[in-house]
Amino acid sequence: MINFQYARANDLADAVRRIAADPSAKFIAGGTNLVDLMKMDVERPSRLIDITRLPLKTVEETADGGLRIGALVPNSDLAYHPLVEQRYPLLGSAILAGASQQLRNMASTGGNLLQRTRCSYFYDTATPCNKRDPGSGCSAINGLNRMHAILGTSEACIATHPSDMCVALAALDARVHVAGPAGERAIAFTDFHRLPGHTPQLDTNLHPNEIVTAVELPARGFAANYSYLKIRDRLSYAFALVSVAAALELEGDRIKEARLALGGVAHKPWRDPAAEAALKGQAPNEGNFKRAADVLLRDAKGFEHNAFKVDLARRAIVRTLTQAARGTPQSQSNKKIV
Ligand code: SF4
Repeated sequence: MINFQYARANDLADAVRRIAADPSAKFIAGGTNLVDLMKMDVERPSRLIDITRLPLKTVEETADGGLRIGALVPNSDLAYHPLVEQRYPLLGSAILAGASQQLRNMASTGGNLLQRTRCSYFYDTATPCNKRDPGSGCSAINGLNRMHAILGTSEACIATHPSDMCVALAALDARVHVAGPAGERAIAFTDFHRLPGHTPQLDTNLHPNEIVTAVELPARGFAANYSYLKIRDRLSYAFALVSVAAALELEGDRIKEARLALGGVAHKPWRDPAAEAALKGQAPNEGNFKRAADVLLRDAKGFEHNAFKVDLARRAIVRTLTQAARGTPQSQSNKKIV
């Protein structure tokens, strides 16, 4: 563990001012990922700016019937918030599939978005890693890559984004509100995280010195027909091999609208408008779900140890869409895959 300065931000403007004044400072809220990264010598901030006292802890309805979730709302509070349980159960289900109860109690909404990959080479400072040390190489491409990406990879990095919550937020068309030296702006959730390309050290499209202030959900929550399925090596406290967030709006015997996002397969939650368009107007049956899965996975490419993920993802998509269509969402409490 390194030595670092500690400061507490008094308000949002103070937080932005403090981070802009020190290029190697980091914000800290729950600390559930950052403290690990510091212990492993992956992150070496000169200063931690404690933002836990900023007024970003409320969940409020918006004028257009949506929900504005403060960046400091703990993951547990969000999952069990009455409005999330009633109107956005897909989000609550995804949150409860992640981490452990203790971690969810500490982890913040903003921090969940900003957590780093769990690629083991990223955490091992004795190995090359372009994300940790740009230009050093990627140890995973020809290494142990069972947990790695099958979509949107580059020659520089094949890491996955580890969040479950973010997969649901992508499917629900959330927006991320941020503030920085140039003022406030909102980013569509699907544009918030980046693919690795030649700059895998950049996980998001946040500008320097910006802070996440809130996540906003539109009114439509797909509470009747949704499911979040997480496939992992053990049934608790493990990152996804593949996860699927599916949400349908049914009209008669047809799909009026479909949302489909995958976790554990790419550098960002993977959402593909072509796969959703393939479901629109179709009957909610296995054949159409398989066709949508084929569209979504058309460019999927496995590596030595993770090629199994392509077929796993295909079957997980069909199962999750089937559960969503039947209104029998995946249970996160008894852990059985139904
Ligand atoms: Fe680093 Fe990305 Fe390669 Fe993992 S996959 S070793 S994070 S560059």
